[in-house]
Amino acid sequence: MSFSPALFPILLAQIDSLITEHAEEITELDQAIGDGDHVFNLQHGLQALQKEATSISQLDWSDAWQKIGMTLMSSVGGASGALYATLFINLAKSSRGQTIDLQHFASAFDAAINAVKQRGKSDAGEKTMLDVLIPVAAALQQHAENGLPIADLLQALPQVAADGAEATRNMLATKGRASFLGERSLGHIDAGAKTAALIISAIASVLTQQTSA
Ligand code: ADP
Ligand code: MG
Repeated sequence: MSFSPALFPILLAQIDSLITEHAEEITELDQAIGDGDHVFNLQHGLQALQKEATSISQLDWSDAWQKIGMTLMSSVGGASGALYATLFINLAKSSRGQTIDLQHFASAFDAAINAVKQRGKSDAGEKTMLDVLIPVAAALQQHAENGLPIADLLQALPQVAADGAEATRNMLATKGRASFLGERSLGHIDAGAKTAALIISAIASVLTQQTSA
């Protein structure tokens, strides 16, 4: 079973709908410890991707990820735009010319997360989107190494991502705008971690429908 970029428009629609459903909550989170624009930044990026959705759906994964990254780079203001652009551009770079099975995807995703860490000069435990993306990358690696069924992975991912977001509540922000607050950042979930978890969960739900279709 393989997933193709023909799924991109439906993945995008599901992500957009989940983000819209949680927009108010995300804004409240970003207002508490950031500047409140995170959901707007993200929705702006999703709209830009929407305009490219048909052409992206006709590319191979590597070119699709490159185009997604470039589109986000030019459309999203804010730290999150540059970081997601870095993620997708590096996903493209590490998967060029490869057959994308779970093993290859897991290593490409890992490489992409490392590029995000470098770009953001950040790592796990700093109360950012990385606190979701790093455990997701680890779950991918673990499933790939153990040769477990992809359906199990897709079932596990939303909880892995949600736990990662929840864990940011008790972290001290040391990167991004929330770091300006020091100890006052404690007690709030990071908005970028929350949206990363929603995005992972939207992707898992679409891919699950595909595997059982
Ligand atoms: P900005 O902070 O520039 O207003 P957004 O509001 O769109 O940008 O995104 C903020 C989110 O980006 C944060 O909640 C956090 O998850 C993530 N973020 C910010 N800085 C970094 C960084 N250096 N490394 C990783 N993630 C970061
Ligand atoms: Mg912001």
